[in-house]
Amino acid sequence: MKVLLVDDSVTMRRIQKTQIGTLGITDILEAGDGQEALEKLKANMPVDLVLLDWNMPVMDGITFLKTARADAAFKDVKIIMCTSESEKSRVVEALKSGANNYIIKPFTPEALKEKLGL
Ligand SMILES: [Mg+2]
Repeated sequence: MKVLLVDDSVTMRRIQKTQIGTLGITDILEAGDGQEALEKLKANMPVDLVLLDWNMPVMDGITFLKTARADAAFKDVKIIMCTSESEKSRVVEALKSGANNYIIKPFTPEALKEKLGL
């Protein structure tokens, strides 16, 4: 499984990468904003899963989500919004915009496994 981890926080990416790694997933790409994420996505297809932060400079998570979902090339890419407890109310908007699911961050490997249906 190839995963694209998108978050502007290097620390958060490091934590999440470790968590994902414990599931045996080692093919992990990283991006620090939505624009970089789009470029990485295009260059590395097929990507199976995008774990997407909300608040980022240059291009935020919801803009990335809407842009990716407008492109048929990415229709099979699973996108999970990584949201903080305080942002939970925005989840509906993300699901309406094409997110497959959401997860509260920082997530545990078990929580991610459940969201992925593994
Ligand atoms: Mg952020």
